[in-house]
Amino acid sequence: MTFAKPLEEVRVGGEIDAQCTKCRRVTNHRIVSMQDDAIKHVLCLTCSCQHNFRAPAAVKKAAASKAKATTAAKPKEPRPAKEPKETKEAREARDAKKAAVDEREQNREKWNEFKSRFSHAVAVEYSLNGDFGQDQALNHAKFGLGFVTRVMLPNKIEVQFEESLKTLVMHVGPSGNR
Ligand SMILES: [Zn+2]
Repeated sequence: MTFAKPLEEVRVGGEIDAQCTKCRRVTNHRIVSMQDDAIKHVLCLTCSCQHNFRAPAAVKKAAASKAKATTAAKPKEPRPAKEPKETKEAREARDAKKAAVDEREQNREKWNEFKSRFSHAVAVEYSLNGDFGQDQALNHAKFGLGFVTRVMLPNKIEVQFEESLKTLVMHVGPSGNR
């Protein structure tokens, strides 16, 4: 069922479907007056009652529901949760941590190798004024058992401890200066 009429028919004297207040239904009306392009008064051709033009409810309803449909917010699709992007700092920190772990493992390997090679050696207590030679086993108060991997004259030694390679000094102190 269509209520739309060709535009040329919408003129005073023309006929149009409209809601009749008296008939309480959509009936055929004659346009009595218009204001600009809007129909103002109509005459019901069924009951001959003149009244303000009221668009057929069906049209109104359709228009209303159409308007509602367009204005009604579409249910927003939930945005896919973005994976939190790893920051440069976080990545660097992770890499550094991994590198530190790798380094510790490498140190431990070397240290274990020394340990098995010099299992017979008696570890000397490390002290600043001590004298240490290549491959010597020493015991450090903080780092524990270590092995001298390199002597850097005049007074430095490189020592392999369980988790790290350290450079220590020797020949320093009251009884040093050899
Ligand atoms: Zn009527």
